[in-house]
Amino acid sequence: MNLIIMGAPGSGKGTQAALICKAHALPHISTGDILRENIKLGTELGKQAKAYMDAGKLVPDELVVALLKDRMEKPDCKNGFLLDGFPRTEPQADALSKIVNIDVALFLETDLNKLADRMASRRVCPKCGYSTSVDAAPDGKCKECGDTLVIRDDDKREVVENRLKVYGEQTAPLVEYYKARGVLKTIDGMQSIDRVNADIEAALK
Ligand code: AMP
Repeated sequence: MNLIIMGAPGSGKGTQAALICKAHALPHISTGDILRENIKLGTELGKQAKAYMDAGKLVPDELVVALLKDRMEKPDCKNGFLLDGFPRTEPQADALSKIVNIDVALFLETDLNKLADRMASRRVCPKCGYSTSVDAAPDGKCKECGDTLVIRDDDKREVVENRLKVYGEQTAPLVEYYKARGVLKTIDGMQSIDRVNADIEAALK
């Protein structure tokens, strides 16, 4: 299965992607995670991407497409994968279509007005990448590895608004792009994590 998961920032893509990949033994390819890892390691790519990410802007297509191509060549992608956070623009979708066929594009439909609050309450583990909400982890510790949870730099209020705007302008049109190609499955992303996951599994059958 070659899958894409799409949705606005804060729609729960990362959480659902992790569940799908575990259930179907697929590699979870998150361009955001790869970029954050590069920033942490201080690579050239990380240095170039950081200013865009901190401002809530998209990293230029050339950089992201190159990193994606590189990742897709790894042997673990041979029998399928799930892309999370890529493509985010039409040129990225076109570039992807030249590399692989996409079987299903899952779209988590959400109420954009409620996402700023969701992102403000998101907490992530800097060590293992686990993502949760401040309400679900009142002790501020990662339930996977025990490290102290932090707020992502780009989940700060002033950046979130820009990310949602960029999503609406550049990424939301991809819903139509994949609908036109007959691979779109729309899921109600405002439900509980379990219900969203059950609907995704039903859509993948
Ligand atoms: P995410 O973790 O998917 O929310 O991504 C965090 C940030 O990384 C985004 O706001 C962008 O700055 C950057 N990013 C991740 N994926 C892409 C992409 N496919 N194209 C451009 N920028 C990206």
